[in-house]
Amino acid sequence: MRVRFHGVRGSTPTPGASTVRYGGNTSCVEVRLADGSLLIFDAGTGIRECGLSLLQEGFSGPIHLMLSHLHWDHVLGLPFFGPIWRKDTVLRVMPMLTEAQQQAAQARTLFDGLHFPVRAEHVPARIELLPEATSWRVGSAVVRRVPLNHPGGAQGFRVDDADGRSLTYLTDNELSPPTSPQISLDALARFAENVDLLIHDAQYIEEDFPLKKGWGHSTIGEVIELGQLASARHLALYHHEPTRDDDALDALDREIQASLREQKSPMQATMAREGWVLDL
Ligand SMILES: [Zn+2]
Ligand SMILES: [Zn+2]
Repeated sequence: MRVRFHGVRGSTPTPGASTVRYGGNTSCVEVRLADGSLLIFDAGTGIRECGLSLLQEGFSGPIHLMLSHLHWDHVLGLPFFGPIWRKDTVLRVMPMLTEAQQQAAQARTLFDGLHFPVRAEHVPARIELLPEATSWRVGSAVVRRVPLNHPGGAQGFRVDDADGRSLTYLTDNELSPPTSPQISLDALARFAENVDLLIHDAQYIEEDFPLKKGWGHSTIGEVIELGQLASARHLALYHHEPTRDDDALDALDREIQASLREQKSPMQATMAREGWVLDL
């Protein structure tokens, strides 16, 4: 499995000189399976770059789009995803978690003539919504999902490829929400058990609380705890807080690495950055 991060920022794009190393584009991760099938997680502004590289490569297979939810930072790049402007593109979209999200996806809210000048019926690509199921066969992999703790609802995914490699994509998710959770820490650890790569929203640090309690994101400390509970091999800290620049993320990374060394943790942890490519 090859994983490529096209956008790692949470909540809003953060272009500028102080964020150029980790990148300012919002959520988008590209995954190539053992058989070459393509999955894209979220359509934040990072998906624009993803589209450019697919067009350059001449990729012609179906594109499987897994949206976590419909907040702006996860869909804003979709109108600028080059392959949708080609007639020969087949875009297969995973069902959304809630009925409200599914209705909004079917109405193609972004392409209603108000939010973007082109209406849905004039988008040339063939867009198919995959049927409801508990698991999906996508190329050489099986994909499953879980509900996450996030205002308005969000879904997370696990991909198990035929060659035994696996990953989970879990954003936006609050591991200790103030109200009764959709999913507990233990249940999520079981869902992510023994994955090669655990990608998780790590937007906050302790100092962000109590103000941001209930906003639907997790602290770095909680995410590390989840990774260790799940015995994940590698943790990718993702969906970075927009107010933290490169130097602030570097400082947090130094703390994380020191703490993992001290604990003699077998888990590797990396602050995800735009353009990072990882072979599992
Ligand atoms: Zn988000
Ligand atoms: Zn969100």
